[in-house]
Order: sequence, then C-alpha cells, then structure tokens
Amino acid sequence: MLRRVSQFGLGTTGLANCLIGRRPMLARALLILCYHRVVPMDEPDEFPFDSDLVSATPVDFAWQMQFLRRHFTPISVETLLAAIAGERPLPPRSVLVTFDDGYDDCFHYALPILKSEGMPGCVFVSSGLIGSEDTFWFDQLAYAVLATETPRLELPEIGIVAELPTGRPARRKLYARIVAALKRVPDPLRVELVERTKRQCRVTPDRDVRGLSRPMSASHVMEASRSGLSVQSHTVSHPILSNVDADRLRAELMESRVAIGELTGIAPDVLAYPNGTWNDFGQREVDAARACGYRAAVTYESGFQMADSLDPFRLLRLPVNWRHSRSWFRTMLAVPEVASGSRAPVEVADATG
Ligand SMILES: [Zn+2]
Repeated sequence: MLRRVSQFGLGTTGLANCLIGRRPMLARALLILCYHRVVPMDEPDEFPFDSDLVSATPVDFAWQMQFLRRHFTPISVETLLAAIAGERPLPPRSVLVTFDDGYDDCFHYALPILKSEGMPGCVFVSSGLIGSEDTFWFDQLAYAVLATETPRLELPEIGIVAELPTGRPARRKLYARIVAALKRVPDPLRVELVERTKRQCRVTPDRDVRGLSRPMSASHVMEASRSGLSVQSHTVSHPILSNVDADRLRAELMESRVAIGELTGIAPDVLAYPNGTWNDFGQREVDAARACGYRAAVTYESGFQMADSLDPFRLLRLPVNWRHSRSWFRTMLAVPEVASGSRAPVEVADATG
C-alpha cells in the first residue's frame, strides 16, 4: 500500500484531506518541513545557481502554507522547545516550517506569505554569511561550473579531471558530483578546491546574477526576527561539521549563537547541522551543540517523529522541492511514511548524556 502511495500519490484532494483528519497517528506526530529557497523560477534550466535548493515558487509556497493552516497546527520554535522541556505537550497535528541557509528570498518572498497567513516559522542562518557580498560556497561552485567556458577541470584530489560537458543538464550533473565529493573531504581541502575551481573556471557573476543568490542582510535578519520568523543557527560558515576539528566545531556552534543573539536579542536555541545527513554529524557534534547551549537540533534526514518520543538533537524533517507536485505535497503530509526512510545510526552514547 505504502509503495503504491509513494509511486502514485494519493491523487485526489479529498482523500488526502480525509486521511489527515482521521489518522490518529498524525494527531500525535510532529512534522518539520525543510525549505531552502522560495523564488520565482520561470526557466529552471537557466537558473544560474543550484536549482535543487529551490523549494518552491512563491505561488506554490502560498498554496502550501494555506494547506498547512487548514489541515495542521503550525507551531513556533518556542512551542517545540516547551514540549522538549516537558512544559506542555505539542498540539495535535503539529507542523513546524523551517528554512535552511538564510537566503534573502526567504525574507523577500516567504516572510510576507507567512505573515499574511499568520504562520510562525524559523530560519536557520549561517551567521558568517549575513550581509556578505559572496554567496554560499556551493552556489559559488554551481555558478562557476555552469557558466564557465574553460574546456577542462582538474581536481585530482577528489578524482575529477574532466572535460567540461556542453549543455546545462550535464553541467549540473558535474556540479553535483563535485559538491558531493567536497562534502566528504577535510574542510581546509574543501575550501582550497572551491577556490581552485573558481580560478580554473574564470567567471564572475555580474550584479544582476549575484542578486539571484544572496544571503540575508543584518537588517533582514532583525526584521525577520521581529516579524515572528524565529532566527536560529546554521553555524558560521556552513562547513560539514564532521569534517572540522574540535576547536573549529566549537567556534562554528558558539560564534553563530553569539552573533545571531547580538543581532536579534534572542540567542538561538536550535541548530540545523549543515547538510544534515547522518554522515555530516554524529555524537561528537550532538555533545558539542549541547555544551554550547543549544536545546535542540534538526537534521536533513527525511522523516518525522512522534510528539511523545522526540529525540531533540536528531529531529527529522520532510524536504520540500520545487519539483514536487501539489499532489505529492498533500501525500507527504497525509502519509509522511512515504517520505521517510531514516533512522539514526546506532552510536556509543556519551555516558554523561
Ligand atoms: Zn544549509
């Protein structure tokens, strides 16, 4: 049954809506949706940066928020933290809307929609990127690989010595290969290889293109926080935490907490692990986050949790992508099992907890 649902979706609106109202399991679940970017994208193929990070167009996002408001109970970070602390239970059919990275489109497109729907939400911001002229390292890489006219790329350390293919789809595949490889190397090498790729590609986005991938400014962050979009931490520079040493790990967690707290007046209590798969963090990172004062952390592993058994530093999320149809969105919310495949790997727990 589940396989059929995941293949074909629930199809009709009525069936999904009916299921949401009647599944006792959903009433006791906490769903956390993970968005990255909300931007108009008329021609996805022409998008000059990583199009996989586009979660929805503003039109679809508005429809999704109306759907959530009608069928679920949108909750705030504060409500989640109160439930984790055992102060009050989560309401039935809780859903938390989250954004990773802190692109300025979150401010320009998502925030007005959240406000008009009266929905809380939360954005995980990499504090070192706030107000930066340079965008995230993966988008710098995406632009270079997509736009370059250089014939050849040489990154032997990650096994990539390749002629540049023609055509956007092939270029996007090459970018995906490079970025996946860079997520697996020690962070100093990742930084070096991003810079080398940019040097080999010899292309710089002009002002208009740069505007399509820009982190939020300090005033955006302050305004978002004042408007009810809770600003939480996504580290300082968005490294893969399992690839950094212990000092850097602590600095990434602590300094972002301090910097965001200074801007908004509210120190973040929740962390989103960059990239967020089980490969990207483990018990060391959980312990460090707790030691730096965080009270919860979200992963980028796909799934949901039951409200009475939350694992506060391994919260699973349901990713939203612009390629998903409305039928899929309804299905994912009504039967979140279809989008869930993730269990935390067994690790030797720190005896001190
Ligand atoms: Zn991220």
